Amino acid sequence: MNAAKPVVLAAALLGLAGLMAGCAPAGPPSAGGSTTAVSPGGTSASPSASAGGSPSQGAGTATSSPEPAETSSSAASKGPETKKPPAQGGHDDPARIDVVVNKQRPLQPLDYFPADLATPALTAGPGGDGTQLRAAAADAAEQMFAAAAADGVSMTVLSGFRSYETQISTYQHWVDVNGKAGADRVSARPGFSEHQTGLSLDIGDASGSCRLEACFADTPAGGWAAQNAHRFGFVVRYQPGQESVTGYSPEPWHLRYVGTRDAGAMFSSGAKALETYYGLPAAPDYR
Ligand SMILES: [Zn+2]
Repeated sequence: MNAAKPVVLAAALLGLAGLMAGCAPAGPPSAGGSTTAVSPGGTSASPSASAGGSPSQGAGTATSSPEPAETSSSAASKGPETKKPPAQGGHDDPARIDVVVNKQRPLQPLDYFPADLATPALTAGPGGDGTQLRAAAADAAEQMFAAAAADGVSMTVLSGFRSYETQISTYQHWVDVNGKAGADRVSARPGFSEHQTGLSLDIGDASGSCRLEACFADTPAGGWAAQNAHRFGFVVRYQPGQESVTGYSPEPWHLRYVGTRDAGAMFSSGAKALETYYGLPAAPDYR
């Protein structure tokens, strides 16, 4: 895991031409299924409701990261004024929960490794790998899964943190199999994967159906997440119709932790991409 080495850096600098999000090692999400997310348990009665009841906000485990001002004022995340993104400037620092990583914004440094990884107690789905997330995201994910379960929705985790080294080998595997262009459709370049922040996780439905596919949006877990993830600080990072902004096809299974304040405000503002919400340039492709 800590095998990062010069060789690895060299490989990245050599200009791996990757592309896609890198969530679905099994292939690009098929088009087609852009159905709207139905929310079976849409209005769950979780105590933290949508007002930003921040389950993990600045709490407990998240001690080491200089998070943006996630103050208690987040309780007002429903208010119109909170639609306004926080001051810019923090979106470059991978240690902050408001970092934005996309095809135009690689991690800095490329081999960034989170300092506070934790292993949340979540049900792993088929093919799920050892899931780690940064402490705050791990805590929030546990609470989100519990809330989903309380609504009768069984959610699984498929992937969390992925190291720079892992992404190098994953990407190279696809280059070997499909060539660069093909690899780029299914795997992110090393240093460009949001999973490397430790703030992203791929979820699945316990039924196993539509695993890492666009139709996941139609599963109970996919529908529930679309309507409720923000209550726990997560946003659906790659939404339909946002390819020209995020650079990725819809990935209803890929959630990104940004904290309850921003997740709630983005949800209620109607913004469909973090780039839009934070006022950052679109990133349709690599430079
Ligand atoms: Zn993902």
